[in-house]
Amino acid sequence: MAESMRLYRAPLVLPVASPPLSNGAVLTENGRVRAVGPYAELRRQAEVLPLAAEVDYEGHVLIPALVNAHCHLELSGLAFLSREWQPEPGDITGWIRRLLAARQERPADPDAALLALARLFTGGCRTVLDIGNDPASAEIGRLFKAEVFFYLELLGFSGAAQDAALARLAGQPAELCCTGHALYSTGPELFRALKKRAGGDSCRFPVHVAESAAEEEFLAHGGGPLRDFLVERGLDLTAFRPPNRSAVAWLDRLGLLDEQTICVHGVRVSREDISLLAARRSGVCLCPGSNRYLGVGRAPLPDYLAADILPALGTDSQASNHGFSLWHEMKVLREDHPGVEPATVLAMATLAGARLLGREGETGVIAPGVSSALLAVECPTASGQPETVLEYLTTAGEEIRLEWIE
Ligand SMILES: [Zn+2]
Repeated sequence: MAESMRLYRAPLVLPVASPPLSNGAVLTENGRVRAVGPYAELRRQAEVLPLAAEVDYEGHVLIPALVNAHCHLELSGLAFLSREWQPEPGDITGWIRRLLAARQERPADPDAALLALARLFTGGCRTVLDIGNDPASAEIGRLFKAEVFFYLELLGFSGAAQDAALARLAGQPAELCCTGHALYSTGPELFRALKKRAGGDSCRFPVHVAESAAEEEFLAHGGGPLRDFLVERGLDLTAFRPPNRSAVAWLDRLGLLDEQTICVHGVRVSREDISLLAARRSGVCLCPGSNRYLGVGRAPLPDYLAADILPALGTDSQASNHGFSLWHEMKVLREDHPGVEPATVLAMATLAGARLLGREGETGVIAPGVSSALLAVECPTASGQPETVLEYLTTAGEEIRLEWIE
């Protein structure tokens, strides 16, 4: 319907997958982008079209909506952990202990989860991959404007714990996407069952991979703080034989690494691991804010980029990240990797996430056919060079002010 066409102009439009447009514009129709290009050109086209509205976003830059490729909305009620307490650098088991204790003391808080989702949306994030341990959490995003792809995460490393998780998995409805947590918390048999179930449908397979030195140590020799932690939790590890491989190599050996797999964190990876991920065409999602809070190190972003892997970005949970926003993630990433181009960082927060979640064609870029849910971001240098604008967008963090154009 022509009556629903709208034309938006801005001093700069960043379509992400195509070059920046100074004095650019976006023409929308029925909730979709009809055209993106120079303003003068689209204005001429619009002269023969009955426009419902024309909006001039002077002082703004138009960009695609952001994608949060990894979070745990369910843990939002435990945000006080990251606000009030700082673990020793790399002490991931110390943090897990605190998290589990806090979880036991407090009932699940769906209001906090919804508020966290609203915070993401207000910050320009429209697409979210959410992981939870309670099937009821699948409801969090149901009535919300953002699209939330929920995954039920099952844990059970060995023995009775793994058997119980397998039985639980068998009882889940077919339409619910399920996944495992990590190689130190979800056993091989459970992982294989999860992978088999995920194969062939629209689900992805997100797994926490190579996040910490403790994980590396446990997979190499079966020792270290993670072993102590699992024993403390009552797991029988007598039959456990450490694979003596990296997390990525072990995932591959277990048959879990393919195009559907999303390796979340990917901090402690070698060049060989990255080559393997590239060969298997697996996805990668970095969580720089959470990594910084836990002190587990920085993912080798330049090595991923050199292997032609464009990682997506995730906030992880509020329990390990007080800066719960994609703008914060971009800022931390720029600080961690000053040599990486700002345009690459913006593409990670948009296009890469959309690809990873199978939402290319719907979001992540400004191009004909995608959703018209786009962002107008206030920018003091909006009329300047695209490089200056990209520098601002990727370093301003939560100072960013924006509105949804539709
Ligand atoms: Zn996570």
